[in-house]
Amino acid sequence: MTTADVLDHEPAGPDPVRPFAAYPTAALMAIATRPDVVFTRGRGSWIWDSEGRRYLDFVQGWAVNTLGHAPAAVATALHAQAQCLLQAGPGFYSDRAAELAARLAALSGLDRCFIANSGAEANEGAIKLARKFGQAHRGGAFEIVTFANAFHGRSLATMSASGKPGFERLFEPKVAGFPKARLNDLDSVAACVGSRTVAVMVEPIQGEAGVIEASDGFLRGLRRFCDERGLLLVLDEVQTGIGRTGSMWAHTRSGIRPDILTLGKGLGGGVPIGAVLARESACCFEPGDQGGTYNGNALVCAAALAVLDVVAAPGFLAAVESRSARLRAGLDRVAARLGLPPSDGRGLLLAIDLPHHRVAQDVADAARSRAGHDGVVPGLLVNPVRRKRLRLMPALDVGEAEVDEGLAILGSLLTRGA
Ligand SMILES: *Cc1c(COP(=O)(O)O)cnc(C)c1O
Repeated sequence: MTTADVLDHEPAGPDPVRPFAAYPTAALMAIATRPDVVFTRGRGSWIWDSEGRRYLDFVQGWAVNTLGHAPAAVATALHAQAQCLLQAGPGFYSDRAAELAARLAALSGLDRCFIANSGAEANEGAIKLARKFGQAHRGGAFEIVTFANAFHGRSLATMSASGKPGFERLFEPKVAGFPKARLNDLDSVAACVGSRTVAVMVEPIQGEAGVIEASDGFLRGLRRFCDERGLLLVLDEVQTGIGRTGSMWAHTRSGIRPDILTLGKGLGGGVPIGAVLARESACCFEPGDQGGTYNGNALVCAAALAVLDVVAAPGFLAAVESRSARLRAGLDRVAARLGLPPSDGRGLLLAIDLPHHRVAQDVADAARSRAGHDGVVPGLLVNPVRRKRLRLMPALDVGEAEVDEGLAILGSLLTRGA
């Protein structure tokens, strides 16, 4: 959409202009340092705040809005499903849950699916499945090798599995059994493996760490290593799955297949969902081992099916790659002008380093707060993923004009005073 189109298509808000201070934001627990902005509506790559300012959104709910804000495909599916069946309960089959499981199995080449409510819950399920496998087949082995700087979620077990600096001291004691290896270092994995090891769990691209790729060679080596040692390979594709990196799964490019695959974020296109997929030989849950009241909720499954219809349609992922190429080329031009290395990442999960005198949080704040109250001059939402690194995760159907507009804003912010 061009700026003129956007202004024409601004969705009506419940309160078109209401100042930030009028909202009871203090009623929310302070789990993040949030800016003084209340978002009220969005469409595609654009989001509006309660004071009428608009923003080009390259965060998209933290890489969850696969098709941008309020996409018609998801809205229509939710509307139809809401009038039909919300939830039958985890002790029963529903048509949508069965369809989604079969769809994900077919797309991934894996056999069975457990549908969860978030990425953390999906990973928690994968950890439990691996531990059950260890009990059933590996003499009680329970350790899962994970990686420095990994991020697997915020439940106690997934925080313990994570290697995020800053997590070490939180909520002690940790859940035991997650020795840490170094990404792209097979020897460091081997050094963590012993008789109690049952699995290795890795993100194909470490998103929260700042968009750090596991190399194809490393992933292939890990697959071989796990096969030789009888270990399960668990891939956390919560952030990288569902087309985010330009292919349906990030691991496709290395030609490997995991034993267990976890999904979240982009699968729901903005509604909360997660999934664990596994090959038949690893599917050792028995009735009573795993569950959750909302799991397989028909409403959210309908949204995920609508997202998959779009992402798996012929040509969609090729278009993601061409948008990615355009965004990357622009980012790399800015980086070259500043004497910085080119961008990292794949598809529409990209990151760039900042010049030594710039701090990512300040750049993100400046990009956001340039938005004018007239709604004409837009702000830009980007993620300061590390102190000196910005992450971009726009909608997979972001327009070329929007890519160019985002690049122009970023370019002028970064090269100013450089
Ligand atoms: C976001 C994320 C999670 C956690 O997902 P939630 O839905 O926030 O629980 C797990 N793993 C990775 C790789 C993620 O990016």
